[in-house]
Amino acid sequence: MRRIGRVGFLLALLAVALQPLLSDAQGAPIKAEDKRMPKITEAREGAFRCDTAPALLVGKSLADSPAFLPLQERLQSRFQATMAPARPDGQLPGSPFILIGLAQDHPALRQLLADHQAKLPKGGLGPEGYILDITPARVLIAASQPAGAFYGALALLERDTAAEKGLTIPAGTVADWPTMGWRGMHLLVNSRADLPNLETLITEYLPQLRLNQLILEINYHFQYRSHPEITEGDALTRDDCRHLKELADKHFVRLIPMINCLGHQSWAEHTAQLLKSHPEFDETPDYPADNKGIYCRSWCPSHPDINKVVFALIDELVDAFDAKAFHVGMDEVFILGQCPRCKGTENARLFAKAVNDLHGHIVGARKLQMLMWGDRFLDGDATKYGEWEASKNGTAAAIDLVPKDIILCDWHYETSYGGAPATYPSVRLFQDKGFRVWPSGWRTEENVRMLTGCALQNQSDRMVGYLATTWSGAGNIVGGLSGSVPPPQGRENRGDLPAAIRKGAQIAWEGKVGT
Ligand SMILES: [Zn+2]
Repeated sequence: MRRIGRVGFLLALLAVALQPLLSDAQGAPIKAEDKRMPKITEAREGAFRCDTAPALLVGKSLADSPAFLPLQERLQSRFQATMAPARPDGQLPGSPFILIGLAQDHPALRQLLADHQAKLPKGGLGPEGYILDITPARVLIAASQPAGAFYGALALLERDTAAEKGLTIPAGTVADWPTMGWRGMHLLVNSRADLPNLETLITEYLPQLRLNQLILEINYHFQYRSHPEITEGDALTRDDCRHLKELADKHFVRLIPMINCLGHQSWAEHTAQLLKSHPEFDETPDYPADNKGIYCRSWCPSHPDINKVVFALIDELVDAFDAKAFHVGMDEVFILGQCPRCKGTENARLFAKAVNDLHGHIVGARKLQMLMWGDRFLDGDATKYGEWEASKNGTAAAIDLVPKDIILCDWHYETSYGGAPATYPSVRLFQDKGFRVWPSGWRTEENVRMLTGCALQNQSDRMVGYLATTWSGAGNIVGGLSGSVPPPQGRENRGDLPAAIRKGAQIAWEGKVGT
């Protein structure tokens, strides 16, 4: 249940006030539990040990890519030297060097990949896999795509045992690749005050955790030009979004902006700015202004002008982030079918209309991927999920009325339902219906283990990965991951969000649930 969101928001504000002490240019120190266990490791005698700077050779395919930048930055910091990358030629140097590139960039890299082909998955290393080959004389980092070279460089640097000066990397061969393709996090962006922590998250923690997708729930906290009256609070500018996108590109993270559509138009006594500035869109305008007795307001999916306004907001966020995907939210819609326009139409049809209208714009007109929460498509009784993680208000039948190319974020936060251990039947159900599904867990390691275990059992091209939801701002997340903010305590906050994020990231990459 998401009713905890307000507490998370307050914690986020607290965390912003207690800005964590961030480490030096080398980035936040990586914790032992964040080091991935590679799928293939072969040890070798000795180490690649340098007291003076080794040559940095970068393959032609990576010349314009940020993949080698972590390597370059580490070398510059350790050797206090400008490390201009050189292009490798046929004859490799006799002095110590690090060569990073794709197979086609050098015969030595091609040979390294060929030598290990038999042990790799059927399709090879994939877009994010890499091979490291370390001898006392040199290091090779080979990959199929730039993202793999980036993760290879990070993995190499994490093996470095030198304290402050030089490099000491134990010799051996490492081949690794992620089991799950989309390793994501969802968070709330409520203010420009979140920006420093968002930058830290994108540049340090997501790469460490090997997460490659970040859903930014922005809602009305953006300075909309088409509808300035809908902008709420200290909102992000277009330049802020572009800056975040640049950082994300540099760290191989895809940003997915999000507006919670249809439902969640209020939270406790606060009504969000869309319905405040456009009360004509309110599905229940007669409900008390302080929202007493209701969970969240909804907009009316049948109002003839709602789409024009919402599409303009979506377009602005998509353009600001140059986004290739958009998340429309749509969870926990309880108020539906009440206004004179909607009354008499089944809730499944009203919900499907809202989904189809958004799909027509996001996928049809803008040619983007569309994501949404999956709960309204699930039958709360048949699945035993209840009325929060699934629907008891007649919307479940909408699943057969919407296009199958929507990616369904299937959030489930409990570990048992109706007294029995959770089996999360929706992960399979959505795939059987033809949808791609993104299982989404939250704040306890047990929930994360059980849900990712279910995802791994149901692997197919319709199971895209694992999504860590946080219901927090970046300050709370960075504070939690760095240890500068204690994990929230208390009945409603049971669990340990940073530990749950770490566990999910580890399982998504390694593909093993463990104990
Ligand atoms: Zn209506």
